[in-house]
Parts: sequence; C-alpha cells; structure tokens
Amino acid sequence: MAERDRLRDYRGKRDFDRTGEPRESGEPAGDRPRFVVQIHDASTMHFDFRLQVDDVLKSWSVPKGPSADPKDKRLAVPTEDHPLEYEEFEGVIPRGEYGGGTVIVWDHGTYEPLSHDRKGRSVDFAESLERGHATFRLSGSKLHGEYALTRFRSGDDGEEAWLLVKRTGGRAGTHGAPDPRRARSARSGRTLAQVASDAAGE
Ligand code: MN
Repeated sequence: MAERDRLRDYRGKRDFDRTGEPRESGEPAGDRPRFVVQIHDASTMHFDFRLQVDDVLKSWSVPKGPSADPKDKRLAVPTEDHPLEYEEFEGVIPRGEYGGGTVIVWDHGTYEPLSHDRKGRSVDFAESLERGHATFRLSGSKLHGEYALTRFRSGDDGEEAWLLVKRTGGRAGTHGAPDPRRARSARSGRTLAQVASDAAGE
C-alpha cells in the first residue's frame, strides 16, 4: 500500500505562488518532538495549536488559546496536518487566500508525550491521539507543564471537537493565552500589527 500523503489537504488549500507559507522540505526531525502555538488574525481571531507527530504537525484551531488554569476547558477544533516547517511561519497570508491574515509564533518548544494505558504502560502518542485522548508536557518559552487533548465529539455528525485542558499539579503555569492583539512573538518579539506593517513595507 502506498504511504498515505498526510499533507495533501495542506497543499490542496494553498497557492504557493501567492502565500509565503512553507512547502514541506522533507528535512528530518530532531530528537524531541516540537510544538508551536500561533496566533492567527484571520476572518476570526484564533490560536493554532500544533504538535509534531512523526513528520507532520497535528493541528487544532483553539479560539481562546491554551489556558494555564486547569478549570478552563478550551475548545480545540482539528485542522489539516501541517508540515514541520510551519513552526517557523510568521507573516501575512494574502487576503482572499485560504486562512488570509497575519500569523505570529506566540510560543514554541518541545513536548514530552505522557500517554499511558490503564496498566500504566506508555502507549504510542499517535495512537493515543487517534483514540481521542493524549497527554503531554510542554516546555515552551511561555507554556509549561502538562496538558491533555480530549475528543468529545466525533466528526460523524458535523465538526469534530476536542478540549485542550491544563492538568492539575506540577509547576503552576503563569502564562495563559494573552489578549491576541497585545501578544508578542516568541520568535521576533513583534505583535500582529507589527508583523502586518513590516510585511506591508516589504
Ligand atoms: Mn489558523
């Protein structure tokens, strides 16, 4: 059987002559899996939460962004797999293109998969996501500690939906999602408005 083309949806939605978003290069990944949280000022402002699983970034759109408070359950709607290079993407997707609007990298870093089965054995992270529940420890420049992603609605009768929740215990998080318009990039220190005006001046 031919290997599944996991980035077909990603490529199909984009015209790479028009958007500055990356194509995949096929570069091998590093040792520890990566995560990135982008702020995306599209038709609706949202956060994009992405976890490296093998050679792609599994992706969720999180309208309110991740919270550092375990009492906050944040809606996370799956979007198409993105190439690993997308972790670096910050810039402006042209108006009229898929996802048109400004993107900043709000946080990035590595994560440690924590998923275990009922007997305490660690299970494959990709498999735990497919089953609809995965836990992991983030080590970013802003986000730290354990989070869980849990599917609560299957895509059979509409849009698949998950919750992204900070787990109790461990190091108390201080950085929840900020006001997206005041937030600064972990890569460049810029706000959305600064990235947009820099792009306009190019
Ligand atoms: Mn987005």
